[in-house]
Amino acid sequence: MKMARKRLLIAIDGPSASGKSTIAKLLSRKLGYNYLDTGAMYRALAWKALQRNMKLNSEDELSQLARQSSFKFHQLGDDYRIMINGEDVSDKIRYPQVSEAASKISCFLGVRQALVKIQQEIGARGGLVAEGRDVCTTVFPEADFKFYLDASLTERAYRRYLELKESGIIASEEKVKEDIESRDKSDSQRTHSPLTRREDSIYIDTTDLTIEEVLNLTLDRIKFR
Ligand code: C5P
Repeated sequence: MKMARKRLLIAIDGPSASGKSTIAKLLSRKLGYNYLDTGAMYRALAWKALQRNMKLNSEDELSQLARQSSFKFHQLGDDYRIMINGEDVSDKIRYPQVSEAASKISCFLGVRQALVKIQQEIGARGGLVAEGRDVCTTVFPEADFKFYLDASLTERAYRRYLELKESGIIASEEKVKEDIESRDKSDSQRTHSPLTRREDSIYIDTTDLTIEEVLNLTLDRIKFR
């Protein structure tokens, strides 16, 4: 009798523009798994808060918004879309103002608890590659595989700059670097679920590696255990 293969849960974290999304998407396609971009959920929520002119320092109101919001994900060819309360906001959430707002609202425990709960429900069935700053530490500490992707600040800023340019968003390289540095700081210094590396996560420095090399490294680790 043929045994069904276990559908694994794979978590990838690391700082901004370390290659988490690129690798998580490619890995999920290779393995035939779903892909979960947890950052897109914080971004979508931040977008909603900005659209409603909400105060970004009001923990109670933002936590309530998080609890009342619904998220849906779907794939359109190679494109991953996110909907909040039925509205597709995928093209609106990559702007620098939304990045900054997402970083602010993600400091609040109530916001994090609401989103983590949804993420854990999505991960419960396995067959998922999830990425985001706290997926290895808080959301899925028991994941079958945990990876921490890293790269130098200069390399990450350059990657983000190219990404923004490609999507038609004009920003200077220097400004992008400053933004990333300040987000790194707030993401690693916040009280709740700061960006940290778990001892048992597999660390990959992607600074001098191509996307294919990083993908192969992750696939090798998955195959070898
Ligand atoms: O990964 P991305 O840049 O899209 O995330 C946007 C922001 O959302 C991050 O700067 C971070 O503050 C927050 N975030 C988080 N926890 C996650 C994913 C993202 O706090 N798991």
